Amino acid sequence: MSGKQLAEIKVSSLPKIGDKRAELFHKIGIYNLFDLLYYFPRRYEDRRFVEGLDGVTTGEQVTVFGRIISVEEVKLRRNMSLLRVVIQGNFGSCTALWFNQPFLKRSLHRGLPIAVTGKLERNLYGCEISVNDYEAGSLKNPVHVGRIVPIYSSTENLSQRFLRRIIYQCVRKHANNIRNHLPEELIRELNLMPISQAIMEIHFPRDEDSLVRARESLVYEELFLFQTGLNRIHEKVRSQGVARRPQTTLPEEFLKKLPYALTKAQQKAMTEIRNDLSSRKRMYRLLQGDVGCGKTVVALYALLYVVASGFQGALMAPTEVLAEQHFLSISKLVSGLGVNVDILTGSLGKKEKEQSLQSIKSGMTDIVVGTHALLEDDVVFNHLGLVVIDEQHRFGVQQRDLLLNKAAAPDVLVMTATPIPRSLTLTVYGDLDLTIINELPPGRKKIKTFFLPAKEKSRVYSFVRKELEAGRQVYVVCPLIQESEHFAVEAAVKRYEELCREFSGFNVGLIHGKLKIDEKEGVMDAFRRGEVDLLVATSVIEVGIDVTNASVIIIEGVERFGLSQLHQLRGRVGRGTQESYCVLVGNPNTREAIERIKIMVNCHDGFQVAEKDLALRGPGELLGIKQHGYSDFRVVDIINDLPHFLKMKKYNYLTKIDQHDLWEEINFRFPSLFNVLKI
Ligand code: ADP
Ligand code: MG
Repeated sequence: MSGKQLAEIKVSSLPKIGDKRAELFHKIGIYNLFDLLYYFPRRYEDRRFVEGLDGVTTGEQVTVFGRIISVEEVKLRRNMSLLRVVIQGNFGSCTALWFNQPFLKRSLHRGLPIAVTGKLERNLYGCEISVNDYEAGSLKNPVHVGRIVPIYSSTENLSQRFLRRIIYQCVRKHANNIRNHLPEELIRELNLMPISQAIMEIHFPRDEDSLVRARESLVYEELFLFQTGLNRIHEKVRSQGVARRPQTTLPEEFLKKLPYALTKAQQKAMTEIRNDLSSRKRMYRLLQGDVGCGKTVVALYALLYVVASGFQGALMAPTEVLAEQHFLSISKLVSGLGVNVDILTGSLGKKEKEQSLQSIKSGMTDIVVGTHALLEDDVVFNHLGLVVIDEQHRFGVQQRDLLLNKAAAPDVLVMTATPIPRSLTLTVYGDLDLTIINELPPGRKKIKTFFLPAKEKSRVYSFVRKELEAGRQVYVVCPLIQESEHFAVEAAVKRYEELCREFSGFNVGLIHGKLKIDEKEGVMDAFRRGEVDLLVATSVIEVGIDVTNASVIIIEGVERFGLSQLHQLRGRVGRGTQESYCVLVGNPNTREAIERIKIMVNCHDGFQVAEKDLALRGPGELLGIKQHGYSDFRVVDIINDLPHFLKMKKYNYLTKIDQHDLWEEINFRFPSLFNVLKI
């Protein structure tokens, strides 16, 4: 049977499971037989029989097997009783103790075969075992003792013994019928087990080695299905493309006009992108590079390449400030090249919005920069050819789909500054091709990073004053208040007033999310032009703001920010050639917050920061996988099984995909994967 067929058998149809019990199973996520067979133990207990007690340390858990010699009930204090059962077997003899289970007396009698497991104590009476679990009567196929026993996560009213018994029965009855999707070659090459055996062994392992092999086999089964699915998607997606053929020299003119030389890494990225765009294959590429490495100009090149080929391009950013920033810098970079750039954000006036929409629809607009306002139904493109998505992980998968669906098969470029492990990009984005910019523009200096306790924050003022006097600019980022932008704004206003007094000889500006778009733009413009010396901001400046003359960023309430966010913020400075500083101010009082600060102070490479963040927080939070509801893996751990991921990538099973049932199984096991591109 395939997984899909197993899933058609509901738990409620199993013997001994009525509606009430079925509900308990639902509580732990088991709805059907597939769920049950793939409900793996949380841990295991070694309850194999010992041959003798001599080698067992007092206090250790031990399991023995023998016959009952005597049963004695001892009344302790009120309502308390103790059952003392002497057991003799090849191991020797011992007394098994049960507390407060007098009813057991009825089922235990002299001569009955019994196995008990529990903690061993030694005293005047000899060896005693406080029974933790037992089995009596016919012990031909013990489930709870006499083996390495699985311990499952359970829920109230669903006993470990009952759950284990049900799983045992199902495994015995059905494991043999599970269809094996693992290719023979792979089983041989990696010394795996066929899946039916692996399922049996992961629940009731013969020994430690076969447990390891069983898990690995299941990991590879899952990876095989996943990888095969990705290959199919890869093929399909890539086959839908349009070869872009520039009709003008726009892309080259643009490059000639750039005020700086491209880094090698940027050039390589552009080449890869150009190859994608000009081929019949559809581009589906992730552009990854640390903050400040110059992704924007690469993306713009891609956009112009597509524009020159007679299509429109769209760039979607996660926040209005960032969209505006992109709009301005792009407009500047393409000025004089005859390219029409428009902006579309939620806070655009009605008339302006109408104009933008009209221009996009008529095809007048070559490049539109926007926020998720681009996703709305009334945004209709004339001939959209390329979608660039900046800081991707802030968008949900569905949101991205909305944009991609605005054209037949647009090329896609996703930009991110968060270097995430390959296994994660696969699971979160599907199989994007990867371009990495691993080089910063020349002349950048390390951003010196310091920490100051909140009560000493005025100590930084004289330093700030010196920088301001030298003509540099400074950011002060106010504490992040996630629950309410209102409070965040209030706090920022207060801080702004304080700093106005403190630095009365300089121009202090304020920017936050509640400002109107033209107000924000006004403040940012003034900061860019150097008219504002010190800019107080809420975390709206987190991504993408680009002012090369800024040399100091002070981040207050540092304990409230995540590591990636801090690294992004720090990247707002160090964009010019001068020495730059990041001062972290706050009251970190958790181990994690202190750890984050240490990492920031010692670590300047975005890749390392991200890796540490991943270790600290786990992938769910880092990438918002939880919010976006992604993780179809039941066995694979997307962090720890990375080596297996990489190994699996070596095997290419494209040919096997024609089997219909395999394809069906992949769809069943990885539903989210197939939503990614609506295949
Ligand atoms: P990010 O990758 O973080 O989005 P940006 O694209 O915002 O980085 O670029 C950061 C800054 O570096 C911008 O001011 C940009 O003009 C500048 N820049 C980009 N490429 C180069 C280069 N090759 N040489 C010098 N400066 C560059
Ligand atoms: Mg950027």
